[in-house]
Amino acid sequence: MNANYLQTPITYLKGVGPNRAETLQSELGISTYQDLLNLFPNRYIDKTQYYKIDQLQRSNADVQIIGEIIHIKTVEQKKGKRLVATFRDETGEMELVWFRGQKWIREHLKLNIPYVIFGRCNWYNGKFSMPHPEMELVTEHEQGVKVMMQPVYPSTEKLSNKGITNRVINKLLQQLFIETNGRFSETLSPALLQELKLISKSEALFNIHFPKSQEYLAKAQFRLKFEELFYIQLQLLLKKMLRKQKIKGFTFDKVGELFNDFYKSHLPFELTNAQKRVIKEIRADLGSNAQMNRLLQGDVGSGKTIVALMTLLLAIDNGFQACLMAPTEILANQHFNGIKELLEGIHVNIALLTGSVKKSARKVIHEQLENGELHVLIGTHALLEDKVQYKNLGLAIVDEQHRFGVAQRSKLWHKNEMPPHILVMTATPIPRTLAMSLYGDLDISVIDELPPGRKAIKTVHRFDSNRLKVFGFIRDEIKKGRQIYIVYPLIQESEALDYKDLMDGYESIIRDFPLPDYQISIVHGKMKPADKDYEMKRFVQGETQIMVATTVIEVGVNVPNASVMIIESAERFGLSQLHQLRGRVGRGADQSYCILMTSHKLSSEARTRLETMVLTNDGFEIAEVDLKLRGPGDLMGTQQSGILNLKIADIVKDNDILKTARHIVIQLLKEDPSLEKSDNLVIKHTYAQLIKHKNIWNYIS
Ligand code: ADP
Ligand code: MG
Repeated sequence: MNANYLQTPITYLKGVGPNRAETLQSELGISTYQDLLNLFPNRYIDKTQYYKIDQLQRSNADVQIIGEIIHIKTVEQKKGKRLVATFRDETGEMELVWFRGQKWIREHLKLNIPYVIFGRCNWYNGKFSMPHPEMELVTEHEQGVKVMMQPVYPSTEKLSNKGITNRVINKLLQQLFIETNGRFSETLSPALLQELKLISKSEALFNIHFPKSQEYLAKAQFRLKFEELFYIQLQLLLKKMLRKQKIKGFTFDKVGELFNDFYKSHLPFELTNAQKRVIKEIRADLGSNAQMNRLLQGDVGSGKTIVALMTLLLAIDNGFQACLMAPTEILANQHFNGIKELLEGIHVNIALLTGSVKKSARKVIHEQLENGELHVLIGTHALLEDKVQYKNLGLAIVDEQHRFGVAQRSKLWHKNEMPPHILVMTATPIPRTLAMSLYGDLDISVIDELPPGRKAIKTVHRFDSNRLKVFGFIRDEIKKGRQIYIVYPLIQESEALDYKDLMDGYESIIRDFPLPDYQISIVHGKMKPADKDYEMKRFVQGETQIMVATTVIEVGVNVPNASVMIIESAERFGLSQLHQLRGRVGRGADQSYCILMTSHKLSSEARTRLETMVLTNDGFEIAEVDLKLRGPGDLMGTQQSGILNLKIADIVKDNDILKTARHIVIQLLKEDPSLEKSDNLVIKHTYAQLIKHKNIWNYIS
């Protein structure tokens, strides 16, 4: 059957009238034959057994029984009515019950004719009963396609109210297979089918809806999952290829004086191998004539700043300006100070632009940017303002990208006629699986090695009842000259309560750590930026020993002397946030600690999160656990990307298939980038169809 035939509106299918068509469309998004064919079952039930009523057990299992309805009545109940039928076989009687869709059932049920019923049995009032059974006349049942495994399709209340049961969907699919002879165009090349030992498209579609056996079902699932992931990867990688061909970038062909001078005479430490590798990757991008669009991932403390700095120098060496944008004022300040310090004795003009820079100073910055005197601008969102115009912006570095929206990033692109090179740095490790699908068209560099000599942070979990001991430990650490973070959750929904917790906590800490022996800072989102900065500064300069804060300190703050991170109500934080917070310590030479405080009431998921934190310091490992716990939907706004609209594959569970698909697509595009070899025409054609009918999710870039 060719693909166009499958675009036939579903109303043309026998058994689908205008009413059903409308319900199928609104509830399941089915408007064509193709859509119905691609409605894949959620699960399968084995229907090879038939039970007698006297064999039923009080086990709640789904069972299949043959018998007749001998009586039917409506029973009034407190709220509404229920429909109750007496169902009988040669061994006994039971009840069938409906709470919804009673009118339809009443009109269509036949008395004293053998039915096969299927569903879950309850033991109720001394009798077995089956609510909302699936029903089929035995005569139909015998004619139907015999399946070992009964598929269970997605359902909604409206569907069942309108009588569109699983059975009905199954029937519609049978009809579709009759009308099409079950013959569907192949969508993968013969070479691929052979290489991966895949069954044909027709066989796969048949067995996904009417599995002949477990084995066939498994083959059908593999084939269809592979196909789905294959075409998504093809889309991503084609896009990447086109971007590299089409979007020209400035060519930085020199490794110039500044870079070399810094590398030879100012580098404060030996670069790790990972840092060297990443700088090489970036240099290769900048040297080609395509625009760089690279994501740099590296766990907290892995040393991304120096990579950013050396990239800035490459831009300046080639006669361009560069900017570095951070999500908060504190971070922008920190980058500014850090980079200035590293560049001491090197002639580079840097300025800082944030919301709190005075108007007069701003004006100077604007002017120097436009006349090219200023080489590097570091700052916050303020960099995106229209007034900020460069003479020749060649490179934009964005730190901690998931806090910036896509729209904001694209603003940077339009500061010039030709887009600057973009380097996005993130400390949130993205599991490989997700990176491959979500950022599959970006280039990714990973710093997967910490600078030498770091002591692993010791993480423990303590209950609130142990608070006195924890305070004792804090006192000992402060005596050794260390500084302490105490972090409270701040969740928007319960903001008022959270502030109360924070302030209560702050007061009790002041009581336990009184002046003049102890100085305490507090920072939270409701403070004025100037007050926040003041408190932060006191802590950075070692004037205060304890910093009480909400998660505002989560990102990037660097105080090497702080060696203890205490997280209050740790059960309320997500894994990646816990890991980010922990990354605030372990930055100096001393042994660092992270103490996760919780109440005794813990959900099993919270327990897994805490155990994971205690077990490992590896951000990638933590990200994988996080992905498994939460599913891809919750991670970094993936909802909008449509990655959840996968029809059959699951990027977490089908990780291996995903890797295979990506690998195969890379090979394919290497050998035949425009898919013009005769063997690959089928792929080219299928891809065009998918795009045309928007059956492939629309990736945001
Ligand atoms: P992040 O990746 O979290 O931004 P930073 O760039 O802030 O990490 O680096 C963390 C700390 O490690 C800084 O104090 C930095 O000077 C130091 N550092 C970075 N690279 C190295 C290295 N190769 N050897 C030793 N110390 C390093
Ligand atoms: Mg950083």
